[in-house]
Amino acid sequence: MARLDYLKRPPLKELVLMINSVFVAGNHVGGYDATLSALKSGRLEALLNFRASKDQQEDGELDATYDYDLVVIGGGSGGLAASKEAAFLGKKVAVCDFVKPTPIGTTWGLGGTCVNVGCIPKKLMHQSALIGKYLDDSHAFGWNTPDKVRHDWNKMVEKIQEHIKSLNSSYQEELRDKKVDYINAYASFLDPHTLKSVEKTNEERIITAQHIVIATGGRPRYPSIPGAKEYCITSDDIFSLSHSPGKTLCVGASYIALECAGFLNGLGLEVEVMVRSILLRGFDQQMAERIGKNMEEKGVKFSRGFVPIKIEKVQDGRSVFRWGRRPTLKVVQASRIR
Ligand SMILES: Cc1cc2nc3c(=O)[nH]c(=O)nc-3n(C[C@H](O)[C@H](O)[C@H](O)COP(=O)(O)OP(=O)(O)OC[C@H]3O[C@@H](n4cnc5c(N)ncnc54)[C@H](O)[C@@H]3O)c2cc1C
Repeated sequence: MARLDYLKRPPLKELVLMINSVFVAGNHVGGYDATLSALKSGRLEALLNFRASKDQQEDGELDATYDYDLVVIGGGSGGLAASKEAAFLGKKVAVCDFVKPTPIGTTWGLGGTCVNVGCIPKKLMHQSALIGKYLDDSHAFGWNTPDKVRHDWNKMVEKIQEHIKSLNSSYQEELRDKKVDYINAYASFLDPHTLKSVEKTNEERIITAQHIVIATGGRPRYPSIPGAKEYCITSDDIFSLSHSPGKTLCVGASYIALECAGFLNGLGLEVEVMVRSILLRGFDQQMAERIGKNMEEKGVKFSRGFVPIKIEKVQDGRSVFRWGRRPTLKVVQASRIR
């Protein structure tokens, strides 16, 4: 590391400032700022050691103590990026990724939340809602579109799932190309360098690694109230749901709840959002309130100051949500959500 300190010192600093492209071991690092940040993050040193480690690898001199230099737990945006970068730097890498099914059995492929049940399907559902809005406006712009155009939930879900599956496959191919082993199994620690991985078939395997990165992301949390897991779904289920959810209550006012409420309303469904206290906690509250107002103008209802306390099924296809700003209890009916 000491030999890299010269980068911070003039006159070499001025020299690097003048040269706006620095290459290390054949890799483009960037200008002065990028080089300095690569130095701070350790990437520069890794690049300098890259050739040596490649040579070692070719000569079979890798530390034979472990199966891998690095195992990443979690094949989402974070885990995939970390594993590919490490493989690029000459390390022997594996990624363990496993999706535990939701209470109604939804699972998905490689790529984590963003690709399967997050950013991507969400944006596609928003886009579907926006297209509906354009259709409403189309007459005013000279289009002879039919007056009543029906939205087909199943068709939308089918197309979104096709797109996601193509992304799952391309992620697997990318790992193969970059020589990263993909282990489709749930990993747990046995010791700091040893993992037990369990596949869907319950087949177990012991994997050792010099370094282990935890990139396991997060999943939606159900409230601990009767009926929640039996009768409710989360954002993990909505993007592959085999029927339109119909009239929907979104519990919570995070960006995920509001976005789901927004596209469901845009697709023509009756939507209500149950808010415990404020919208979009952690975001600028002036903006949060503007977003809430805008959603209300578009037809989304908000129940503020409520928490769900019980969910019951009253008849097939209908659930009763009991919610309260204790001690008052309210009872409303919502359409089939499962
Ligand atoms: C509906 C929704 C919309 C979103 N929209 C946006 C957006 O527009 N923009 C944005 O920036 N972010 C958005 N996000 C957030 C974004 O999706 C996440 O921040 C991001 O995907 C997190 O990536 P990650 O790699 O940390 O974890 P994840 O993508 O969650 O990946 C973790 C992976 O690890 C697996 N795993 C967990 N434990 C284990 C284990 N023990 N063994 C093996 N595998 C395991 C998980 O199953 C998962 O596949 C959205 C999220 C949601 C839910």
